[in-house]
Amino acid sequence: MTICPGIHDLAEMKDGLLARLRLPGGLLSSEKAEIIAELAREYGNGEIDLTNRANLQLRGITADTKPALVAALLDAQLVSKDPIHDRRRNITIDPLSGLNFAQQNELVDCSFFAKAIDAFLKAWPLREQLSPKFSFVLDGGGRTNIAALPHDLAFTALREPGAESDDYEQKYTLSINGSPTPYAYPESVLIGGIEITLKKLIALSGEEPLRMKSLTEKKGREAVIEEIGKFLPISWRAAVEVEEQLKTHPILQPLRAPLKESNGRYCLPLLAPTGRLTHDQLSALAEINRQYTYGQLRLTPWQGIILAGVKEPDINAVWSRAEAIGLLTKEADQTLTIISCAGASGCIHGVFETKNKALEIRDALRNKGQQTPRTIHLSACEKGCASREKSDCLIMGKRGSDEISLHNNAAPAKGLVGEKITADTIIPALKKLF
Ligand code: SF4
Repeated sequence: MTICPGIHDLAEMKDGLLARLRLPGGLLSSEKAEIIAELAREYGNGEIDLTNRANLQLRGITADTKPALVAALLDAQLVSKDPIHDRRRNITIDPLSGLNFAQQNELVDCSFFAKAIDAFLKAWPLREQLSPKFSFVLDGGGRTNIAALPHDLAFTALREPGAESDDYEQKYTLSINGSPTPYAYPESVLIGGIEITLKKLIALSGEEPLRMKSLTEKKGREAVIEEIGKFLPISWRAAVEVEEQLKTHPILQPLRAPLKESNGRYCLPLLAPTGRLTHDQLSALAEINRQYTYGQLRLTPWQGIILAGVKEPDINAVWSRAEAIGLLTKEADQTLTIISCAGASGCIHGVFETKNKALEIRDALRNKGQQTPRTIHLSACEKGCASREKSDCLIMGKRGSDEISLHNNAAPAKGLVGEKITADTIIPALKKLF
């Protein structure tokens, strides 16, 4: 399997070749969604993964169908024709970006910066020195706390108070590899600031393609932060009280219930029960989106979709159409998140089947009266492709063996010791816990 697939370098999986479509910002028009659905049907096996970076993956492609698929995706401007750029446009934003709510609005619409960073990467001569896994997260300071996603660099919007009481400067605090730094970049120079920061980090990284995890492990996190500070203007240091605020690192807050926008319309979250759509589901979603929303499907990093701009009288129609194609609409169903990787049927490393198991688990736990949001992660080996974050309950396989284990509040990792279970005892073990 290619370590980090794109559209030019497909990964070999058990069910055929896999192509990842990186969609900076996770926004998709109905027209583009329809094109992707059609291409998945014609050139793949019709299945489309929703990823934990709000990207899409087409599965079951063959060596024969790959050239026509790539040509069609390029034609639709869904991918970059430059393979080096295409593999590095890993840019995640809040799926509620640009929407207005009565409370907890984003301070800024980060979709603008997602485009600006993508354009910068496309033209930047040093981009190849970033690892293809290098990821940017842009957090507009809204309710989902998107900066809590694993990242190399994250920028979170913040208003630094000015001299007058209603005066402020829009800035973006920098986090590296999941923890905040004391630096806040002014909005007017954000892209330039990113460029000089990356140059410095690349120099520190030496021959190795830049990843913040390995760099901070090699040099020490504090030393890396100090090095960054040496070349940033003194005014880019966050004020002391801001530095204090940054020490509290929030967790990701998926949207699970309808949310009213300031103009009286609604955002409706939908969840794909297996983290995967069929081409028919995506095509139907494109049609629902075309009829009822502002026009963009918003892919979420929790393997869901948000429809924004739905008028109140249309909510029931949207819900029944989404339910008819097998998506979860009710808050009670969405409080249980089941994340699953491709599993034994899709990946040579998988120790157990995950997708049907996710549906069985949902059925088995449906009537448990679950109030508190919980996440179950089915990872068919230690790699944790579907998520590297902690979940309330992790069911993990061990590569090269037939071992499956259950862990509370854990993230996938080699060497984790948990309760030994089998594929047949996954559901009984979960029923004891939930
Ligand atoms: S977590 Fe393991 S089994 Fe699952 S898709 Fe990734 S490599 Fe394959």
